[in-house]
Amino acid sequence: MVEIAVIGGGAAGIGAAHRLRQCGFRVLLIEAAPQLGGNCVGFDLPGPDGSSFTVDVGVSDFNRTTFTAVASLIEELGLPTRPINQDAHFASPDGESLWACRNGSWEFRSDPGGNATALAREATAFATQALEVLRDPRFEHASLGTYLDHLGASEAFRSAILYPRAAGCFPMPDTDPADFPVRQLIEFWNVHGIVSDQPADRRCVEGGMHRYVRAFEQHFVDRGGELHCGTRVVGVSRRKQGVEIRAVDEQNRQRLLTVDHVVLTGHARHSLHLLDEPTQEERHALCRFRCQRARMAIHQDTSLMGSDRDLWGGFHYIVPRGGVPAIRPTITFHPNKLGRLPEGAPDAFLTMNPHREPDAVLAERSFIHPVATLDLPQHIAAVERLQGCRRTWFAGAWLRTPFVHESALQSGLDAAERLLAFEAGSRAPTIGRSLAAN
Ligand SMILES: Cc1cc2nc3c(=O)[nH]c(=O)nc-3n(C[C@H](O)[C@H](O)[C@H](O)COP(=O)(O)OP(=O)(O)OC[C@H]3O[C@@H](n4cnc5c(N)ncnc54)[C@H](O)[C@@H]3O)c2cc1C
Repeated sequence: MVEIAVIGGGAAGIGAAHRLRQCGFRVLLIEAAPQLGGNCVGFDLPGPDGSSFTVDVGVSDFNRTTFTAVASLIEELGLPTRPINQDAHFASPDGESLWACRNGSWEFRSDPGGNATALAREATAFATQALEVLRDPRFEHASLGTYLDHLGASEAFRSAILYPRAAGCFPMPDTDPADFPVRQLIEFWNVHGIVSDQPADRRCVEGGMHRYVRAFEQHFVDRGGELHCGTRVVGVSRRKQGVEIRAVDEQNRQRLLTVDHVVLTGHARHSLHLLDEPTQEERHALCRFRCQRARMAIHQDTSLMGSDRDLWGGFHYIVPRGGVPAIRPTITFHPNKLGRLPEGAPDAFLTMNPHREPDAVLAERSFIHPVATLDLPQHIAAVERLQGCRRTWFAGAWLRTPFVHESALQSGLDAAERLLAFEAGSRAPTIGRSLAAN
């Protein structure tokens, strides 16, 4: 039987492992963390009377219209979903609620620097007009600022709504929003249904997105998949007799396994560091991808949210003032609203890169995420040319814009399909050995 090691149990690893196991291969899914999920992870929050609530602290939702692979996996797992609250709230850095978009309508509680009715109209028009960025070759290498100049966008629209919202998008670089690559930004908004010609169907799994990962773990094992959580891969050697994987498990024991293929789903540079004797091509292709570290603080500091609770939505943006916020991307998710948690659930806020230190920080996590750059398509093409060389396959959100959960799952499925095609055409005998503790 063909044996495959999938390294990394985020959405990309889940996609690859699921498909390859479905096709009857022996699949070892190896994850450094104690559980699968990568960025799709929950955090337990103490509730009243000794109860507890688990809130998503990474992936919070999916758009059923565009996340076809995610939607189909959730359906296969038999999990109910519900619509999220998509309302967006904007506040000043010192916590004054300014304006909000609720159920698609704009409300202004402060002067946005221009006529409010005209501004709302401009925002509504942008939500469909900006689709042209995806189709028109003139915008392929354009920045957001250049595109807004082309539209003749007002200063108020840029500074009150568009730039703060763009600065909340995790794939964008830590620069002035006017310099963001517009095509990749619109692609990100399009997949979430923010810029779209059809209504978004944004949803989460009942009880949180992390639940689908727990359900997948069981599903995979029940179907003969082999899960090795708490096992960190430290090296990958491609040899004549197969691919050797060295790993360290939770008990600090060294593990060695030899498989026919390896699917690497960590970030590009991380995958490169795992490869013994990478080729020149691998070195060149994998070191070109930019990534950023995001700090996610889980807290209960309402002062970061804005003064008017009635305006709060699932997503909360900061309208910059006097150089604050200095670090981007920054956004606060409010899981109680976003996931429509029960009334008794304590408030929790998840702030990515907080512009000031929140009080009552319950926990924090740091994520490495890919960053959109103008030269990304060439870099992705260079990695695609390497797929399958020395029985090594690459997957991960970083290989598919706009880097969302669907991108990651799809890239895992793509890697699996290519590997399947390779095996279907390959006559070479397969060499596989079992996981052995040294
Ligand atoms: C804060 C945040 C919020 C987000 N919210 C959303 C959202 O609401 N909706 C959405 O669509 N997208 C969202 N995204 C993007 C989404 O999380 C990613 O696109 C996707 O989940 C990435 O999946 P992945 O498998 O490529 O990588 P990851 O999720 O990073 O998974 C990689 C896995 O590999 C493991 N690993 C790495 N090295 C090793 C090793 N040596 N040995 C073993 N295992 C290893 C890691 O532990 C990790 O579990 C968010 C991202 C961030 C950072």
